[in-house]
Formats: sequence, C-alpha cells, structure tokens
Amino acid sequence: MKSQPKNLSHTLNHLGENREQYFNAIAPPIIQTSNFSFSSVQSFRKALHDELENTIYTRGNNPTVKILREKLAALEKTEDALVFASGSAAVAATVIAQVKAGDHIVCVQSPYSWTYKLLHQFLPRFGVKTTFVNAQKIETIEAAIKENTKVLYLESPNSMTFELQDLKQCAQLAKKRGLVSIIDNSHASPYYQNPADFGIDLILHSGTKYLNGHSDVVFGVVCGNHTQIRKIFESEFMTLGAIMSPLEAAMVLRGLRTFPLRMEQSNKTAFALAKWLETQPKVKKVYHPLLPNSPQIELANAQMRGAGGLFSIELVTEDIEKIERFSNHLTRFLIAASWGGHESLQIPVCAFYGMENREKPTLPINFIRFYAGLESVEWLKEDFIQAFAEI
Ligand SMILES: *Cc1c(COP(=O)(O)O)cnc(C)c1O
Repeated sequence: MKSQPKNLSHTLNHLGENREQYFNAIAPPIIQTSNFSFSSVQSFRKALHDELENTIYTRGNNPTVKILREKLAALEKTEDALVFASGSAAVAATVIAQVKAGDHIVCVQSPYSWTYKLLHQFLPRFGVKTTFVNAQKIETIEAAIKENTKVLYLESPNSMTFELQDLKQCAQLAKKRGLVSIIDNSHASPYYQNPADFGIDLILHSGTKYLNGHSDVVFGVVCGNHTQIRKIFESEFMTLGAIMSPLEAAMVLRGLRTFPLRMEQSNKTAFALAKWLETQPKVKKVYHPLLPNSPQIELANAQMRGAGGLFSIELVTEDIEKIERFSNHLTRFLIAASWGGHESLQIPVCAFYGMENREKPTLPINFIRFYAGLESVEWLKEDFIQAFAEI
C-alpha cells in the first residue's frame, strides 16, 4: 500500500517520450502551436470525434502537455490526468464537474483558502452548498452527509497545521454513500502519498509546489480514471479553458526529472529542523505530521511514506513586535507565499492580522509556517539561532 509508484525511474525519465517521433531528441520538443492541420476533410472529421485523444487544437490536446499528463497519472497510480493553468483551476473544474444546482458537498474544516472561497462563496451562487466538518473522525463526516450530497472533499495533510483524514475509511464511506471522493494531495505529493492506493477517486495537486519544484511555473493537475477524466475534459476543462501552455509543460517536465531527489532533501531537512526546534526554549509548539508526538502519528505512518518540506511553529511570545522582529531577522527563509521550490520560505501568520479586507485568521498570531528548500540543515539552523537571539 505504501510503496512508491512502480517504475518511478522509468516514469520520470522515459514514460510518454516517443523520441523516434522527434529526431530521437532526449529533451521533448515544445510543440508551440495553437492548432494542427489535416490532409483531408475525412481525417479532420475522424479526429473531431475525440478531442481528448487527437491533436486538433491546443486548448484540448497538445503533444508536449500530453507527455506531462502521462507522467503525472503514473505518479499517482491513476489511468489519466488533466493539467491546468493553476492548482485552483484544477480544483474548481474538478469540483464543478461533479455537481448541479441543489447538490451538496462535505468538505474538511480548513481547506486551502481559494478552495474555501469556491465552496463557501462561489458555488452557493449556483445553488450548491457545502458543510465543513472536523474530519478527523469518520462518524463526524458520515453525520454531515445528506440525501443530496455528491462530493466528499479532503485535504490530507492540511498545509498549515497538517491534520489528516483516514483515506481508506473516507474512500469506503464515499463508495457506500455514492459520493465522489476528491483529495488535494499537494502537501504530501505523489512521492510520499498515493490516495489511489486507498480508493480515493480524484487526486488534485497544485503542481506549482513540488511537481514543478523551481518556483517559476503556476499549474495544477487532477488525476483519476478514464471515465472521470473524460467527463471533466468534455465539460469544465474545455469550457473554462484554464489550460497550461506547452512551454510551461516542458519546464515542468524538466523539473520532474529531479522530483525524488528534491523530495528526499526537503523531507530530511524539514524533519531535522522540526526535531531541533522542539528543543528550543523560545518555541512553544512544533507542527510536523511525522514527529513522534504528533497527534495523528499512527495514521500518518499508515498512509504516508514521508512528509516533504513543511513544518510550523508557535513562538512562546505573543508580542507582535517580537514576532515581526524574529521573522524579519530570518534572512535564509524568504517571507513568501507558496512552497515546493529550491528556496526555504516562511509565512508568518501575523502578516494576516489587522487587515480590513480579510477575515481575522483562525491561527494564532505567533504561528509561522516554514518550508525547507534544498539548502543544508546547518546553514538553515544558523539562521534560526541568530534570529532567536534577537528576541
Ligand atoms: C497552492 C495551493 C493550491 C492552489 O494552487 P495554485 O497553483 O496556487 O493555484 C491548492 N491547494 C493547496 C493545498 C495549495 O497549497
């Protein structure tokens, strides 16, 4: 169950790359074209029967993008995948494809901010309502399911505080009640968790994070079986048109070559830093799903092979001036959104306090989420040591 996708090396280095079709070039060509021509009306008509499989127009299918889709589907152990212009586009298209006016969704309590906006503000305009539940117990999820519930939406682990859901139980419950199960797997990445192993139907990623891994492309992906992928393709994918360009697909194909190396490095560094931070007197609490005293450690070990580069802390101090001083002095953790690239990052939650255009954060003011990039543990630790000395 917990094993890496079969033939990981083959997938990342060769799968989908039919080199004899392009001069045996090692790196795939960027087929930068909007459209494809046909030698006859008959061959054009034949191709039009299936826009997903044939190359007609790049909003539907493009050979460079297709190579990426094949690799991502294999990484998630699913039959097919669709890539999008962003993770949020993938989330929106995938969810919208499952519902119509009058339907209902059950979702984990604190999903990614724009997923929350989609479910809480956007879909109600079209008659689709969502119940958000504390999803750590399967009974709580089951109690929220109604006659008209169509989707169970998961995020495990959550990308700030790392709560998990039991994927096997959730998949079984969804099957029993006739719901489509969807998970945002951005945090663990397909390197450390494959929800399809547990029976989850559709697997989403913000590919902007680990899959591209170099902080220079925004994209998203949904992985699933042929029927689901075709259903999303024929409606939301083609209609909303939030596609990825061939150039960016080629950039991600390059980024993916080093996917396992990057994941191993970030994972090792984040875990080492999290363990060390637990011993630091100015730290009140450390969050990392695989720390021995983590509240859901058994479940984490049962369904994840590692956790990647994210961890969070609460400082002892609640004095905003001190918290800001600490963050400002951490110069090797850039203050920035996102994660999954080469560079270490921090998001101090205090930055979201005192803003008029946003609801007050649910996380405490002394909470900081970190991402360990590809730098050495020692170099990053030095940064913490000098910043602690400032407070
Ligand atoms: C970043 C992120 C998204 C959104 O992806 P974009 O590529 O930024 O559109 C969705 N879910 C999670 C967990 C994320 O971290």
